[in-house]
Amino acid sequence: MAMDPVPVSETTVVTDVATWLEENWSPDLSLGEWWNRLGRSGWGFPAWPQAWFGRGLTGSAARAVIAERTRHGAFGPPSGISTFLAAPTILAYGTDAQKQRYLPGIATGADVWCQLFSEPEAGSDMASLQTRAVRDGDEWVITGQKVWSSGAQFARYGILIARTDPDVPKHKGITYFLIDMHQAGVEVRPLREMTGEAAFNEVFFSEARVADADRLGAPGEGWRVAMTTLSNERDPNNPGLGTGGGSLLGKPDLTMTVAAYQAQQAAEIDAFSFAISGGAGELFNRLVSKFGASEHPVFRQQRAALHSDRVAQRWTAQRAKANAKGGQPGPEVSTLKLGGSNVGRALRNLGLQAMGPHGMLAAADAPEDGLFHKYALFVPATSIAGGSDEVQRNIIGERALGMPKEPDLSRDLPFRELRVTQRPSN
Ligand SMILES: Cc1cc2nc3c(=O)[nH]c(=O)nc-3n(C[C@H](O)[C@H](O)[C@H](O)COP(=O)(O)OP(=O)(O)OC[C@H]3O[C@@H](n4cnc5c(N)ncnc54)[C@H](O)[C@@H]3O)c2cc1C
Repeated sequence: MAMDPVPVSETTVVTDVATWLEENWSPDLSLGEWWNRLGRSGWGFPAWPQAWFGRGLTGSAARAVIAERTRHGAFGPPSGISTFLAAPTILAYGTDAQKQRYLPGIATGADVWCQLFSEPEAGSDMASLQTRAVRDGDEWVITGQKVWSSGAQFARYGILIARTDPDVPKHKGITYFLIDMHQAGVEVRPLREMTGEAAFNEVFFSEARVADADRLGAPGEGWRVAMTTLSNERDPNNPGLGTGGGSLLGKPDLTMTVAAYQAQQAAEIDAFSFAISGGAGELFNRLVSKFGASEHPVFRQQRAALHSDRVAQRWTAQRAKANAKGGQPGPEVSTLKLGGSNVGRALRNLGLQAMGPHGMLAAADAPEDGLFHKYALFVPATSIAGGSDEVQRNIIGERALGMPKEPDLSRDLPFRELRVTQRPSN
């Protein structure tokens, strides 16, 4: 995302945001009213550009705003695929008309978005995607299937990549669109995961329509635009990720008071949002003291090792932030993503171990209403979502270490000639 850093002192922004919060924040406001005030003030997403719902702040000044908001006890802005994936991509590639149309609904929490990239035969090898977009006057006609589309059952809009030119190599014939999910021709079918929840979905397109005005970037430029989305997905410093509270996937009831929404979320948080919010560390500490696990010498060693990994992870995050160019995260985010998966696995293993036999219980029978157990069942997903661990290692090898690219004989052939196009739908 191209940022326009504003040279301001941390003290000034802290005073400004504190004054604004004093005048505007109340837990008795409706969620819709609060997010509207916060989004339009620019204090919700201080790192976004000043012209577009932000304050153009970077680094410590942006962090100081968030710290002050937290200190004040004010509820955070909306967060989810809309703020951490759609917004940075629209900010980077959108026309002014697209920004005007879509950013208000994102910044104020009115619109939920989903990401329509993965397909049954195109996950890690996303460039092999087969969903087609065919030009028809001022519109494009979309046909195909996506899968693992988190929160699509609640989404008003989707960020979609589709094949627009099968006659060029696979990375070159893809175009990026902003699609209205509420139309005939879009069918969403939820999939249930082992957590018991249905966070993601299959999405079927049967001649769905997108206006050409909702194309993000030039035709055939979709791969490059999608890389911006993915680097934001892997970036734990992303200003739109987990900035708020509550679910990252659902459709919040904007008419509830903020206080009621917070209470509802505390009682019913889904595994996906809980894992991303980082709340598992605190829950782990609580369980360790409750079960007196730190008295066991082997457990103490393992906990100290986990702590070191978490500290190293925070240092890497700071380095990645310092190395980000023009607001765009670099390949270091792959190191961070791998580190995050490792820490998640260690936290899961030690947390279950700390509970002793209680670690084998499930759902409401388990300590803390089974929240840690739900997290434990979600942990494998963190090694897959946003690109698997193996794919992150490939990226580190190629882009950070400069090793030769993985051999891919299909890279330079026209997509039409690849075996992947032999599916009946094509
Ligand atoms: C919780 C969760 C949420 C998700 N949300 C979304 C979403 O909202 N929208 C969306 O579009 N997608 C989403 N995904 C999909 C996700 O991006 C894919 O699952 C991921 O990219 C892997 O693709 P795949 O599942 O097709 O596995 P595959 O690509 O089939 O991989 C299978 C295995 O082969 C390995 N492998 C594949 N290629 C290589 C290679 N070149 N080198 C070494 N090993 C390789 C992989 O590491 C993996 O172990 C989500 C996934 C999860 C788990």
